[in-house]
Amino acid sequence: MEIRKYGDTILRRKALPIENIDGEVQEIVTLMIEAMLRADGVGIAAPQIGISKRVIIINLSKDRLYAIVNPEIVWASEDEEPASEGCLSIPGIRAEIIRKRAVKVKGFDLQGRELIIDTEGDAARAVQHEIDHLNGILFIDYLSKAKRTSLLKEYHRKLNQTE
Ligand code: ZN
Repeated sequence: MEIRKYGDTILRRKALPIENIDGEVQEIVTLMIEAMLRADGVGIAAPQIGISKRVIIINLSKDRLYAIVNPEIVWASEDEEPASEGCLSIPGIRAEIIRKRAVKVKGFDLQGRELIIDTEGDAARAVQHEIDHLNGILFIDYLSKAKRTSLLKEYHRKLNQTE
């Protein structure tokens, strides 16, 4: 599965909730994990492999992958922190992004059981980044217009070099 890149309209669409957690969802999750590991990522959302459905994969700690179906942030800390962030759909660029330091995420696992996970630091950052993907939001949207323009220039320059 190709990872969809910046400019692909599916990355700007609001993904649809999953109504039945069935074999098809498991198949999507398998494809997502393959694509994520191949690209050396720490999280991925279904729209990034061209499927506009609400499911994300998060690498919460070393080698512990979680698939979360219909994820929702049900609590977020008041405090925020900046850290460097990148995205498999805009490879080669990174930027400092301010995110909530901790979030509680609710959703379902692949057996349809409710999941409630407390995350903080990198994991909380990944949850916020991947849920943004389900809403058509990219990390560069948080930057000033000037910063975003210069990063995208860099991205396109690198893209042209590799082609
Ligand atoms: Zn991303």
